[in-house]
Amino acid sequence: MLTLSGVCKRYPTGDRALTDIELSLPRGQVMALIGPSGAGKSTLIRCVNRLVEPTSGSIRLDDTELTRLTGRKLRQARRAMGMIFQEYALVDRLSVMENVLSGRLGYVGFWRSFMRRYPEDAVVEAFRLLERVGLAHALDKRADALSGGQRQRVGIARALLQSPRLLLIDEPTASLDPKTSRQIMRLIRELCAERELGAIINIHDVALARQFADRIVGLRGGKIVFDGTPAALSTDI
Ligand code: ADP
Ligand code: ADP
Repeated sequence: MLTLSGVCKRYPTGDRALTDIELSLPRGQVMALIGPSGAGKSTLIRCVNRLVEPTSGSIRLDDTELTRLTGRKLRQARRAMGMIFQEYALVDRLSVMENVLSGRLGYVGFWRSFMRRYPEDAVVEAFRLLERVGLAHALDKRADALSGGQRQRVGIARALLQSPRLLLIDEPTASLDPKTSRQIMRLIRELCAERELGAIINIHDVALARQFADRIVGLRGGKIVFDGTPAALSTDI
């Protein structure tokens, strides 16, 4: 489904963030990306959603070569990739429901949301997703009144509302306590299974990666140093 081949990224500063990355993510697979700070994890995720342009190599999502896309086609391809961030990136003064809707409606629809004219199918689907992530009781709460775990659930529902084929998840548990972290990882895992979604999760907590990922890829100095099942990862990494 997602294939990276020969991907290199060298920043203008001269930092070689990625060197010859070969990686293929099948449908429905949850992959944890681990490695020390500076290993290239964020750069890899950003190359896939094209916040960063790889210096060379190919990144394909199904039949689409992502590295050559521009303009409207790039925006279209990005919609197939749901992003979930460490700091949730919610709009504090908007309600839970409005935050979820803003993901699908984009800028114009976001303005429309202030006018309280939501497309009905989007509202129905947003409600269904909020029910699924356990927030049906909190639709009207302002985002800044939520706990960290609840905020991340809103971020997950917002990403899913665009019906992505792939989730790109950057440190989803970095600001959460251990128990909430496990709940969020379990939820992500279940949702990926239910919807046959592939996911790349950039995560520094190796124990969580082992517990919830199908596959672990270890990066170091911009290169893949491990690629296998959690069971195959020796405990001393
Ligand atoms: P990780 O996410 O594993 O911490 P990063 O992808 O952030 O790693 O960084 C990989 C390398 O690329 C590091 O050496 C970092 O300093 C460098 N780097 C990351 N972003 C930039 C940037 N915007 N400009 C220059 N160098 C960068
Ligand atoms: P993370 O821990 O999530 O990888 P960082 O704190 O490493 O984030 O980086 C934060 C921001 O700084 C990112 O936008 C990254 O691209 C940028 N950055 C990281 N390293 C460098 C660098 N050596 N030069 C310029 N920008 C960098």
